[in-house]
Amino acid sequence: MSVSQFKSWQKCPAATLAKLKGDWQPTSNPTALLVGNYVHSYFESKEAHEAFLEENKAAIFKKNGSERAEFVQAINMIEALEYDDFFNFLYQGEKEVIVTGELYGAEWKGKIDCLNVEEGYFVDLKTTKDIRQGIWSEKYRTRVSFVEDYGYLIQMGIYRQLLEMRYRKPFEAFIVAVSKQDPPDKEAIRIDSWRYESELLEVKHDVPEILRMKYGEQAPRRCGHCEYCRKTKQLSDFVEVGDLLDSRG
Ligand SMILES: [Zn+2]
Repeated sequence: MSVSQFKSWQKCPAATLAKLKGDWQPTSNPTALLVGNYVHSYFESKEAHEAFLEENKAAIFKKNGSERAEFVQAINMIEALEYDDFFNFLYQGEKEVIVTGELYGAEWKGKIDCLNVEEGYFVDLKTTKDIRQGIWSEKYRTRVSFVEDYGYLIQMGIYRQLLEMRYRKPFEAFIVAVSKQDPPDKEAIRIDSWRYESELLEVKHDVPEILRMKYGEQAPRRCGHCEYCRKTKQLSDFVEVGDLLDSRG
């Protein structure tokens, strides 16, 4: 299971199962995804970036050969990191490394943007709208940053665990974030290791039920408010006014 599939199960089992079975496809924002991949492929290798440009030229370039606005922005994001000495010092190691392993009864597979086994750390590049924007989180019952909101603590926690099992040594996870603002903001982010404890406990707790739902031994729960649930919704009862805001537990 990939971490993104796990996060999808946590969010809405019914939608995730429908997606896995090919019954339903979420509406995606291909341009936002492509901007992230544009930045990632650049820092992977020259060949990877050229292959990416070739594959997506219709989306990236206008008829006159110049980049669409989103990709001009992606170039600004790349330059914000490329000419940063701290980033260049940090972002050394093997790029796009696949890491696999068994954890809490599930087989995991992940891809690490930059892995430095010798120094015992890895770096994940994240592109985000605004690094400092607070987002209300039902899970944490408080305002959180994009790191918690996108489940990056779970992702980093699992990758770290998989690496430590494989190499039998401690690893530290760093996130290098670059924003889609003009000009882009950037941060090198470290994570205090206590933050992983409750995240991984949650993974351990949730995996058995997710596997039962995945393999058809248990009916998938509906979250009741995501794109898939709204699309397939049938009313069957009343909801009290006071439950409207708390129903996204
Ligand atoms: Zn749902």
